[in-house]
Amino acid sequence: MQTEFDLIIIGAGCAGLSLGMQLASLHAQAPRTLLLEPRIAYENDRTWCFWGDEQTPFATLARHSWQRFSVNNAASRALVDCSTTPYRLLTGADFYTKALEAITSHTALDLKTGISLTAEPSLIQGMWHLLTTDGSFSANAIVDTRPLPTQQLSDTTLWQSFLGCELEFHEPRFDPTSAQLMDFYPATEAFVGFNYVLPLSTTRALVEFTVFASKIYDQAELVSYLDAQVEKFAGGRPYQRLRNEYGLIPMGVGKPKGTVKPKGAVKLAEQHSSYVRVGLTAGAARPATGYAFQRIQRWALACKQSLQKTGLPVGHQPDSFVIRQMDAIFLNVLRHHPELGPELFMRLFSKVSSEKLIRFLSDQGRVSDYLAVILSLPSGPFIKSAYQVATTR
Ligand SMILES: Cc1cc2nc3c(=O)[nH]c(=O)nc-3n(C[C@H](O)[C@H](O)[C@H](O)COP(=O)(O)OP(=O)(O)OC[C@H]3O[C@@H](n4cnc5c(N)ncnc54)[C@H](O)[C@@H]3O)c2cc1C
Repeated sequence: MQTEFDLIIIGAGCAGLSLGMQLASLHAQAPRTLLLEPRIAYENDRTWCFWGDEQTPFATLARHSWQRFSVNNAASRALVDCSTTPYRLLTGADFYTKALEAITSHTALDLKTGISLTAEPSLIQGMWHLLTTDGSFSANAIVDTRPLPTQQLSDTTLWQSFLGCELEFHEPRFDPTSAQLMDFYPATEAFVGFNYVLPLSTTRALVEFTVFASKIYDQAELVSYLDAQVEKFAGGRPYQRLRNEYGLIPMGVGKPKGTVKPKGAVKLAEQHSSYVRVGLTAGAARPATGYAFQRIQRWALACKQSLQKTGLPVGHQPDSFVIRQMDAIFLNVLRHHPELGPELFMRLFSKVSSEKLIRFLSDQGRVSDYLAVILSLPSGPFIKSAYQVATTR
């Protein structure tokens, strides 16, 4: 069994597999790479949505796309045309199948599933050593995609918690041409809550209840909210629940607390250039939205290029100063005044043109897009929040 590699990727979920696929595309130039994954089998455990044209990574593998979406509260509704960059849904199952095909057919790439680390990686004479339930391995570099435990993320500004289910009705209940991005729960001081509905046909949809809050909502706390939303569509008619999904995304991750340092390193081993942390808790998620999938694809491409050039991996590129400030101020307003959330999002989606807004949300914003977003929001709470953000640094 081969035990020495150029690179070890710890965790083969979205980030690990995305990098694996990028490396597979290097054919004979691919570094010898080991991917370590504790799960034994891949299931259809999530869906990934993103805006994008045909050139966007994975756009053509999407199962469904919508040319428009709505955002509404009890008083008003904004219908947003996104036909130039449709909102697309990629199933976890399709992504995993494609990734596993690419990785397992490449001789330089070795994906080991059902395997766990038994100790933190240690750096000995310039090589990383890993002890696992399937023996020990070493490599020149490590990409660590393991999500940090929530206790280490206590500085997170807001948590996005959501519980969803895919429903199948016997008779038409949905309009498959339009997604419902946010249907707001009445304003409350506890959270910003909304229902998210992705109709896949007239009879099938993914319905998800989401909250943005300073605390984590577990599945049990979200069940009654989701059931109420499902019942709105069902109205007593029979339906089948095909699948459930629960998600927790940190929005605005602070400095992780008490991160376990890999053993054997001189000072901050995680800052050693041959060891990078990536993924959802390491900068993959856009703070103000939690969208991470396309950011992970951009990182995977950059990381492949860096490995090719220097032999060293790279982490996520930090957001620009302007984006970081805008997201921090926006999240701070929502954290302290969740009751303002529905009104703020309604303003954003009804006052800013769809192209500007989608560019802004998809990290492709131009200066004029940022200005349009700023001008759409009321200045009062944002000035106060900007002051708080500036003085807590
Ligand atoms: C249900 C759900 C829906 C989402 N929908 C969207 C969306 O629509 N659009 C979007 O942009 N983003 C979405 N996200 C956010 C983000 O894109 C995903 O969370 C994405 O999977 C993050 O990739 P990742 O590699 O960081 O984490 P994961 O895909 O979770 O991969 C982490 C991997 O690490 C492995 N692992 C865990 N612990 C260990 C350990 N100790 N040792 C070794 N390996 C370990 C896990 O088994 C897993 O395979 C969603 C997230 C969830 C949870």
